[in-house]
Amino acid sequence: MTAETPDPVLRNDMLSTDAVSALADRKAPTFIALSDRLWGMPELRWEEVRSVEEHIAAAEAEGFTITRNLAGMPTAFMAECGEGDITIGFLGEYDALAGLSQEAGLTEQKPLEQGGKGHGCHHNLLGSASLLAAVTLRDALAEAGVKARVRYFGCPAEEGGSGKTYMAREGSFDGLDAAFCWHPAPYNAVMSAATLANKQAYFRFTGRSSHAAVSPEVGRSALDALELMNIGINFMREHMSSNCRVHYSITDTGGTSPNVVQGYAEGLYLVRAPRLDEAEDLYARVLRIAEGAALMTDTTFEVVFDRATSGILPNRALEEAMHEAFEAIGAPAMTRPTTSMPTVLPTLR
Ligand SMILES: [Zn+2]
Repeated sequence: MTAETPDPVLRNDMLSTDAVSALADRKAPTFIALSDRLWGMPELRWEEVRSVEEHIAAAEAEGFTITRNLAGMPTAFMAECGEGDITIGFLGEYDALAGLSQEAGLTEQKPLEQGGKGHGCHHNLLGSASLLAAVTLRDALAEAGVKARVRYFGCPAEEGGSGKTYMAREGSFDGLDAAFCWHPAPYNAVMSAATLANKQAYFRFTGRSSHAAVSPEVGRSALDALELMNIGINFMREHMSSNCRVHYSITDTGGTSPNVVQGYAEGLYLVRAPRLDEAEDLYARVLRIAEGAALMTDTTFEVVFDRATSGILPNRALEEAMHEAFEAIGAPAMTRPTTSMPTVLPTLR
């Protein structure tokens, strides 16, 4: 290896934390402006069309090559830069939430539009800061003379849509050596905890409507089936691992008139467990309980799959490296909010 040939091996001492921070600071205003624009155009999951265009424009301005419609999804994309044997990824999200319209810079609730959309958990920061991280890594590698590929993944529908699971299924993340993501919070920390795997599905019961007083004998209540399913699940709780969870909501009672035998009813069920195979086993028990409820009520049911995700598996080596970097950089200086801080901090939802 000659003096001109870049060392292909990444070492901790190649660029100091200060030097990398300075690279990030240099381009931060552009990405803070991107984040502010995103705040002003909140878009719900799967509909992040303008947000994606904003991110793509910012990535293109930095010389990244764009792959649109990643995994066949219009609001998923990849931005790539550099070449080499090492490929590092950054995951960004940009979807907003319904009903969380909010004026910026306040510590009290003040909707810009009553009931409107808003960046309640700050995915406006999430997408833009991840892109800044990708740009900064590209710049830092160039400065250190290291050849590597940097990829930014624009990920749709984090808010209850599990957009990344479809990207994983279609192989969008293949070829990565490591990838990083983050989420805005009131503190800086490495998230080391594993999360639960989960599976969510609608259970739709169909019976036969009838007048509840005149001809109850010809009716078959789908609502009864749903109630029995929930009773069965609640009895199951004693006999499942205490690390597992089953939640439900009744999404359709079939009707609001008590003098009608409800011929249709629907519930949304969410099963969680530390490992994906445990979640599958528990889900299979929920399925058998639904079969029992249908048998008891002489009704039928169908299952409409909604989403499923594996649990997060912590990576100790990368976590420790990130923790060291956090300690070296320290906490950012906070700006004063427009109004006084509330005495009780709002809880994260
Ligand atoms: Zn979030």
